[in-house]
Amino acid sequence: MEKKYVYLFKEGNGSMKNLLGGKGANLSVMTQLGIPVPQGFTVTTEACNKYYEDGKVISASIIEEIEKCMKELEKETGKEFGSTENPLLVSVRSGARVSMPGMMDTILNLGLNDEAVEAMAKLTNNPRFAYDSYRRFIQMFSDVVMDVEKRLFEDKIDEMKEKRGVKDDTDLTAEDLKELVNQYKEIYKKEKGEDFPQDPKLQLIESVTAVFRSWDNPRAIVYRRLNDIPGEWGTAVNVQQMVFGNKGETSGTGVVFSRNPANGDNEIYGEYLMNAQGEDVVAGIRTPLPISKLEEQNPELYKEFIDIVNKLENHYRDMQDMEMTIEEGKLYFLQTRNGKRTAPAALKIAVDLVESGMITKEEAILKVEPKQLDTLLHPAFYDEDLKKATPIAKGLPASPGAACGKIAFTAEEAKERAANGEAVVLARLETSPEDIEGMIAAEGILTVRGGMTSHAAVVARGMGTCCVAGCGEIKINEENKTLEVGGKIYTSEDFISIDGTTGNIYGEKIKTVTPEITGHFATFMSWVDEIRKLKVRTNADTPRDAKQAVEFGAEGIGLCRTEHMFFAEDRILAVREMIIAKNEEDRRKALDKILPMQRADFIAIYEALKGMPATIRLLDPPLHEFLPHSEEDKLSLAKELNIDIEEIKNAVEEKHEFNPMMGHRGCRLAVTYPEIAEMQTRAIIEAAIAVKVERGYDVVPEIMIPLIGEVKELKFVKDIVVKTAEAVMSEKGTKLDYKVGTMIEIPRAALTADRIAEEAEFFSFGTNDLTQMTFGFSRDDAAKFLNAYYDRKIYEQDPFAKLDQNGVGQLVKMATEKGRSTRSDIKLGICGEHGGDPSSVEFFHKIGLDYVSCSPFRVPLARLAAAQAQVNNKR
Ligand code: PEP
Ligand code: MG
Repeated sequence: MEKKYVYLFKEGNGSMKNLLGGKGANLSVMTQLGIPVPQGFTVTTEACNKYYEDGKVISASIIEEIEKCMKELEKETGKEFGSTENPLLVSVRSGARVSMPGMMDTILNLGLNDEAVEAMAKLTNNPRFAYDSYRRFIQMFSDVVMDVEKRLFEDKIDEMKEKRGVKDDTDLTAEDLKELVNQYKEIYKKEKGEDFPQDPKLQLIESVTAVFRSWDNPRAIVYRRLNDIPGEWGTAVNVQQMVFGNKGETSGTGVVFSRNPANGDNEIYGEYLMNAQGEDVVAGIRTPLPISKLEEQNPELYKEFIDIVNKLENHYRDMQDMEMTIEEGKLYFLQTRNGKRTAPAALKIAVDLVESGMITKEEAILKVEPKQLDTLLHPAFYDEDLKKATPIAKGLPASPGAACGKIAFTAEEAKERAANGEAVVLARLETSPEDIEGMIAAEGILTVRGGMTSHAAVVARGMGTCCVAGCGEIKINEENKTLEVGGKIYTSEDFISIDGTTGNIYGEKIKTVTPEITGHFATFMSWVDEIRKLKVRTNADTPRDAKQAVEFGAEGIGLCRTEHMFFAEDRILAVREMIIAKNEEDRRKALDKILPMQRADFIAIYEALKGMPATIRLLDPPLHEFLPHSEEDKLSLAKELNIDIEEIKNAVEEKHEFNPMMGHRGCRLAVTYPEIAEMQTRAIIEAAIAVKVERGYDVVPEIMIPLIGEVKELKFVKDIVVKTAEAVMSEKGTKLDYKVGTMIEIPRAALTADRIAEEAEFFSFGTNDLTQMTFGFSRDDAAKFLNAYYDRKIYEQDPFAKLDQNGVGQLVKMATEKGRSTRSDIKLGICGEHGGDPSSVEFFHKIGLDYVSCSPFRVPLARLAAAQAQVNNKR
């Protein structure tokens, strides 16, 4: 049988999400549930992939299938596509497997032309409505399908309103709109050199093609990379009969959630507008009414509406986000999906659904995205400072959290300044999908226009970024880059602080703090810990970080990078002295100065861990990193050490590396200067004995040797470590368990892991270096060219952020198996950046590592990702 590329809604079902996309599958389900859905059909994701395979053309056989379905739709609706008497109009919308709000394109009112619009006017006895629909269609089709700038049309409508002395679009008359249609067609002809297409079939095929094309537009690509959505999924296209919310005062349109997406409360939540089309609600041009008002306006319809909302939530067993339209008093549901929600809402809904018996704990933990937890851990305003601050304005609390930064007026500016390490708040009149990268880079987002379902609000909530929307009190001049409120002008140099939980805006810098894990969050995380098998440790170099990580649920330290202690102000001089020393004796003298400081650091870290395990790595970076760079710093170092500046210059020259990452670093330092490893081992063991004796904590230090590539190299350094540790223990007269292991971060180590395991009691995969050395990409420079790789679809993801499972991952898997083959009880962990990335965590779970280790703020995320991996892989 030939492959089918187009399905009527009534032919599909809920299990066909991959093929029909989320929206398409849900429309089929709604049809089956008997919910009033305007009928239509779905062009599959496979058709999208075929479009790309065929060199971006839509094949004749798919066109034929679409036309056949169109005929069916005509039969069903009793209307005719392109008819001059009773025309059928449709919407064309994208619909990928997972929803990507605002990322791809939509065309409404398709099927209108110069004749059909007349027919519509007559048929509805409402020429205003007919011409309004037509001018919207011309604008959308021109913009989305034909790439004619939207602004050209918007200028015309603004001109017309000004000419007529009216404020709202709805105040324009049929005649005004008719005139606008002519102006719009002129714009089209001028821009495209041909008349606006009058053939509905052509309009349809062009529009379907445009949706396929939009799958690969730059903002969709960025969104996919951010949300881990593979390019190969493709998007489906839904063609659906239009129903009209702009047919007059008995018509309307709304966006509704079955629970509150901001805080998770079990209440219907949403907004609607009478005499409007969906885009008016989302675009935030007119301010919509809360859905509760509908009950007052039309109690009977409201009841029907509530029944459907409940039916859908019960069916999907999750909070639904629905679009509805009322056409001359009749209710339709245009789509439903699991609603995007803030992190606090996600937790509350998950816990509430379990407590009401609707879902299991396992199902609940799949309902919260690991990345979302981030927002709960990131700053809120520091209470004391907040009390002293006075808001300068208030907008809608669109996405919770707190943000403080200097003002950026364009997305591009936000992106650039954030890349330079500046904290910025993006302030815009309103946002559009083109702003996505700036929105990602900003600490928070502030808009003048738009409601709770405006683009800024929806996208910010999805990303977990703090957002205050629709603050009409402030004036933004995007051109001059100024923000004006209460008679005061703010520029790019001024700080503002915004509170996405209250909607308050402050014209000053307010300190932010990190909240604790309590309430629903704590309940939820307790389920997470019940379910997961993979342990989660943290990468922490200071007692403060260790303490923070323990509060976030870390089960020990997986990587303590000791070099970070070397940079501290009170010890860098001794470190430099050690590096510049000409012989072992001088080096040992300098090391003796460092020893007590390192010991004190380790004591504090062990105390923060209260007996939990700590993997401490011996010195890793190339030594030149510690030496001064500027002439001035060199001179002052020479003075401090009381030596000639030439000596410093010589040392800097001598330590210079051509390829620092592949240079004199890691265990190579211990091979050349064993006394460094000796000092560090002594500090580690002496500190452990001190806490054992004084605090009763039984710490088992895990001494980790970095950058091993050969077992004999490991053996050499290990012998130094063991000899020193034994000496310290006999000096102190105390026995202590300790382990010696290594990082696996060089491909050769992975390839010979069976031999290495004979000497190593544990492995910790350093996937940062392992990625660098497997790809041959410099960790420091890859960002320069990776964008070109994304654009050309050679790679879709940054391999330093998301583990390359097919390459680097295979080395990890192989080393795991080889390691266990010679040491069955070897402890296996990972401490590269990938330890905090959800899909990488799932991979580590699957290949059977014992733990992942990540930065403190990612610990809760990794715990959740580990639990999800357990649930998904049990299935
Ligand atoms: C690694 O290489 O993955 C690692 C954790 O070590 P570092 O990032 O310090 O090189
Ligand atoms: Mg490394």
